[in-house]
Amino acid sequence: MALVVQKYGGSSVADASCIKRVAQRIVATKKAGNDVVVIVSAMGDTTDELLDLAEQVSPLPPARELDMLLTSGERISMALLAMAIANLGHEARSFTGSQAGVITDSTHGKARIIDVTPSRIREAIDQGHIAIVAGFQGVSQDTKDITTLGRGGSDTTAVALAAALEADVCEIYTDVDGIFTADPRIVPPARKIPRISYDEMMEMAACGAKILHLRCVEYARRFNLPIHVRSSFSTKEGTWVVSDPYTDEGTEMEQPIISGVAHDRSEAKITVVGVPDKVGEAASIFKTLADAEINIDMIVQNVSAAATGRTDISFTLPTTDAQTALGALKKIQAQIGYESLLFDDQIGKVSLIGAGMRSHPGVTATFFAALADAGVNIEMISTSEIRISVIVEQDAIDTAVAAAHRAFDLDADQVEAVVYGGTGR
Ligand code: ASP
Ligand code: MG
Repeated sequence: MALVVQKYGGSSVADASCIKRVAQRIVATKKAGNDVVVIVSAMGDTTDELLDLAEQVSPLPPARELDMLLTSGERISMALLAMAIANLGHEARSFTGSQAGVITDSTHGKARIIDVTPSRIREAIDQGHIAIVAGFQGVSQDTKDITTLGRGGSDTTAVALAAALEADVCEIYTDVDGIFTADPRIVPPARKIPRISYDEMMEMAACGAKILHLRCVEYARRFNLPIHVRSSFSTKEGTWVVSDPYTDEGTEMEQPIISGVAHDRSEAKITVVGVPDKVGEAASIFKTLADAEINIDMIVQNVSAAATGRTDISFTLPTTDAQTALGALKKIQAQIGYESLLFDDQIGKVSLIGAGMRSHPGVTATFFAALADAGVNIEMISTSEIRISVIVEQDAIDTAVAAAHRAFDLDADQVEAVVYGGTGR
């Protein structure tokens, strides 16, 4: 008998009929002789709607209360799902994150899981019940307050519980058939990736592929837990995220040079103009940003103009942090002596990801030539061992993704991607 952990995202439980369909799928897994633990997200766009509502009553809602509000979304879906399963004649019990033993630190809005003590879940499955757990939430060890794990955090709940319960597999159900070589909403001939490594998947998640939460992949890698990303709207095999995808017993596959093209519209660019070219200036700028708890992504510093002895430093950051960053930088303008600040939120990041690029020269040249042929201007560049990212104008993102996808022969001959639901919101 296997222990299967299944996670259903918002679009899979968007309304009553979706919930009934998912209940049937869960019961079928149970009937096949497995123990089943299910993690659910809030129905459809509930989390966004709750956020809108909070904004209407307060421009800056207290973080503790916001978490209290947002976690209610998952409580609705977990209870409804348990009811739908009961209606099919099977025993199901729903649990909040706190009841399921998801213990976190006390950072509201982006809490980290520090321990998982799922004794009540164990008990439920030992009694033959199906356990349903509210995703995206936990309880703080010190304050005992309810916390959330950050947007998309239900994936992390699923993997953390699967690891703590020593599950055989963690299945993440979504509204597409798996992980694709690019977002099929932008590149219709994108292909489903059959198997991908944790490392590549982490780069994809960090570069804006919203299909899996970055922390969930980090967690799975730490515990070497296989993740199977698949659609709840079909029975097709999805994408397996594993440690060594290309040398698995018997199924020796050729490693692709590029696994996928990811994009991210959530960043903005700040340029600090006319920074005196002296030792320690960059350190002061980035220390100020670090103290304001701002995560910087790409950084470019130009060579200083000989005439002025000054240089420009540009960096990208989440658009949501931009006002805080600009405020913090203005406070040190006199101290640093820079000339001005420029702000641009009409940018986006396009990234090429693939472990195969380590051993293939010319990937950068092909990528840049494809962008040039498509008339896309590159504003910034950054690389890792298995990734090349560029910042481009926001309006050019779709063109850039499609061009890169084509240049690396990733286009499928026939359209295979089906987007079953979700608004992509
Ligand atoms: N409902 C939460 C969100 O939309 C968590 C999740 O879906 O994973 O971010
Ligand atoms: Mg989600």
